[in-house]
Amino acid sequence: MAKRDRKKQQKHRLELRKNAQTRSRQSDLTQRFRQDGSVDDASPHGERISGKGRLSRKRTVVGEQVGDETTGFSVLPEIDKSECLPGRVLNVRGLTSTVRTDDGRTYECATRRLLKTLSIDQRHVVAAGDRVWFLPDGAEGRIERVEPRRGILSRTSRSRQHIIVTNVDQVLVVMSAVEPDLKPHLIDRFLITAARSGITPLIVITKVDLLDHAPLQPTLSVFSQMGYDLLLVSATTGFNVDRVRRRLRDRESVVAGQSGVGKSSLLNAIEPGLRLRTNEVSLETQKGKHTTTTAELLPLSDGGYVVDTPGIRQFQLWDVIPEEVAGYFRDLRPYVNLCRFPDCTHMHETDCAVKDAIADGRLDARRYESYCHLFEGDLV
Ligand code: GDP
Ligand code: ZN
Repeated sequence: MAKRDRKKQQKHRLELRKNAQTRSRQSDLTQRFRQDGSVDDASPHGERISGKGRLSRKRTVVGEQVGDETTGFSVLPEIDKSECLPGRVLNVRGLTSTVRTDDGRTYECATRRLLKTLSIDQRHVVAAGDRVWFLPDGAEGRIERVEPRRGILSRTSRSRQHIIVTNVDQVLVVMSAVEPDLKPHLIDRFLITAARSGITPLIVITKVDLLDHAPLQPTLSVFSQMGYDLLLVSATTGFNVDRVRRRLRDRESVVAGQSGVGKSSLLNAIEPGLRLRTNEVSLETQKGKHTTTTAELLPLSDGGYVVDTPGIRQFQLWDVIPEEVAGYFRDLRPYVNLCRFPDCTHMHETDCAVKDAIADGRLDARRYESYCHLFEGDLV
């Protein structure tokens, strides 16, 4: 933060708009921001005579130019930090964001209009997970600045990126050993989504009290051998719950996994205060009532947050194209450049290094099968 403040603050000439401006003109504005970071004063839009309910005006904004897709904003506006508080956006509902300060107070915040102008993507001016500075006013406030984002979990909806939550550190890939049975190919899929979002996965195998898990070891050790962290847990006996708790501390973790694998039970065991409803939400109601992917950060008493939201639990963020799949398979990756054909799909080609590695046991056959399904677009 301090480092950023020392950077030279620049003046940026911006065109401000009333709310009634059309979307197409907003994206037009965004385009011009992307190109040179400023708005051309002589542009026809700038000269436009304001109509009813519309007004274009100029204002000079002082701030640091940031301007790329990951930060979300073209300019980081200068703010008076003696008046503002830093906080974390727990959730966004309509135009209001709930912001939590480090000492645990929450404020219902509106968003400074200037931020909408500076936002590269006007649909996500503020997102759950954002680190912000806001001007407090009683129990309310106004967000003055959004810090650059990292670890963005998003979903592509009708070819547009939809931000679900920002500043995520890790994803808990939760899978039950039994009831429902372990589905290793689902783990494969979750790992790809995590890799694609640049978020560290932690594989958590639940309900290990229900069976002798020795027979699962060969399947699970494949993940450990690839360098993934994996924990066996039981919410019922408390086995390894403390280890998961330590892994969550001071991090922001998204919890992903099928319905019924024990996500809520595990989180309740980690932190009883969360009191998440277990086993109540049926898949049907998740589809119907909870179609939104609105994320909610739940603060943990040891520090850190978990994001547990019906809409993102299934982690259905699948927009990987077949040609990308092999690149996300850590075990296949070393072989793909050794194939005879540079565009080898590793499905049916001759002289395929991947298939050779399967044949002599250097690669796990189950993983290869999973690759084939994913390459063919089977959503398993
Ligand atoms: P969620 O849908 O992933 O949140 O799963 P729940 O936490 O609601 O758990 C689904 C069912 O599995 C419930 O009936 C839980 O009591 C049960 N369950 C969850 N964790 C465990 C565990 O570690 N051991 C056993 N035996 N049952 C568990
Ligand atoms: Zn090949």
